[in-house]
Amino acid sequence: MNDDSEETVEDGGEAEFDLEQAPEIDEEILRRRDEAMARIVQYGDPLLRSRASEIGLFDDGLEVEAREMFSLMRDAFGCGLAANQVGRLRRILVFQSSEDEEPGALVNPVMEWASGETETMTEGCLSIPGVVLDVERPVEATFTGLDLTGRPVRWEMAGLRARIIQHELDHLDGVLILDRAPADQRRAAMRALRRGETWAPPHEGEEETEEVAI
Ligand code: ZN
Repeated sequence: MNDDSEETVEDGGEAEFDLEQAPEIDEEILRRRDEAMARIVQYGDPLLRSRASEIGLFDDGLEVEAREMFSLMRDAFGCGLAANQVGRLRRILVFQSSEDEEPGALVNPVMEWASGETETMTEGCLSIPGVVLDVERPVEATFTGLDLTGRPVRWEMAGLRARIIQHELDHLDGVLILDRAPADQRRAAMRALRRGETWAPPHEGEEETEEVAI
């Protein structure tokens, strides 16, 4: 009898702990997301329409820059980030397509090859919150560039990873999802942005298009 009552108290204690902790953890995550979003350059800023410059110096500063970008990307729940988006016109991008994957960084990236086969997905952008658009991109692509120590790298990517890197590479050239979307979607999204409203493609009666926030 004694053991039973002890067990009950223990279980009760655990349940209480969970209930009290869960909302605090959520608040902390949301606070970090808001802080990250406040540091990410937003639509309307000319930095997003500028071409970033090649990086020639591979020192500790570059590592620090990449680490800052990784943590901002994670805190903002993004799966990629380009330097323009953190206020630096330098050709570096970071990405992480899933939680199990190590974050990657690519310096002075170039898309060497892209497949003729394309796919349309609904893309969002951390610099244009509240707006998602259908963007058609090659399914596979090969990227070259340099790692954080200046060593040449070559990445053959497919699916979501290929899409993320194309999206970030666009940022480094001052190109946004608005430029890649069908003209009618671009017009509607621009109108919504001017009014401070959100916008998403209707997709009524169509097959659901997969959505990704980059
Ligand atoms: Zn973006």
